Amino acid sequence: MSCIFCKIAAGEIPSARVFENAEFIAIRDIQPQAKVHLLVMPKAHVECLDSSGAAEVNSKLLNTAVEVARQEDLAADGFRVVVNTREWGGQTVAHLHLHILGGEQLRGRFA
Ligand code: AMP
Ligand code: ZN
Repeated sequence: MSCIFCKIAAGEIPSARVFENAEFIAIRDIQPQAKVHLLVMPKAHVECLDSSGAAEVNSKLLNTAVEVARQEDLAADGFRVVVNTREWGGQTVAHLHLHILGGEQLRGRFA
């Protein structure tokens, strides 16, 4: 298994885990782009939003992100969700993950 997020999900690489259930984990991004920057991902390896197998997890992933945002007290003030997809979308880790950014007033819009 060479995927870094598979290793994180398996506990083989340490991470700051803020949430876990049977299917998903949420960790703190190692290079935060906002005061709070979390990554939510399935434990099972799925490459991206458009991969085979993604359709079964995409909606649950999004709902889990909302749950995590509430748990981390981001929901009331607001937060941003980003899913970089494949090369042109800026995806650097090929294991489906959703970014939650918040904890402050975010500037900019999409890029
Ligand atoms: P993306 O560019 O959308 O694929 O996002 C990958 C994210 O994973 C980046 O924001 C990285 O900072 C983050 N990242 C990479 N390695 C780790 C790690 N070991 N622990 C936490 N976050 C990581
Ligand atoms: Zn993986």
